[in-house]
Amino acid sequence: MNRASLSDAERSFRSRLAQLASTQWLLRGNLSLRTRRCGKPTCRCVTQHQGHTSLYLVQSHHGKLRQICVPPSWEARVRQAVADYHQMQRLIEEVSELEWKRLRERK
Ligand SMILES: [Zn+2]
Repeated sequence: MNRASLSDAERSFRSRLAQLASTQWLLRGNLSLRTRRCGKPTCRCVTQHQGHTSLYLVQSHHGKLRQICVPPSWEARVRQAVADYHQMQRLIEEVSELEWKRLRERK
C-alpha cells in the first residue's frame, strides 16, 4: 500500500483506527439497563416501587444473543470499550467505502 496515494481524510481514519486498536479495550454489544424485583416482600423494590437495576451487555454470538451482567466497578470501562468498538466499526466502513470507490474507478 502506498500511503502517499491516500487522501488526508483516509490517513486520518487509518491513524484513528490504529490508535483505537492499539490503545483501547474493544467490546462488541449493546448495553441494556434492567430493573427487577428481588422477591422480598418488605424490600424497597416492592414498598417504594424502586426496582433493583442492573446493567447488562447484550451481544449476538454465532447467531444467538448472549448477555452478561456488568458490575458497577466495570461500568465505565465497558461503556468506553463499547463506544470505541462502535467507532472502530464506523472507521473501518469509511476505509472500506474508499477502497470500493478505487476498485470501481480502477485506480
Ligand atoms: Zn428488592
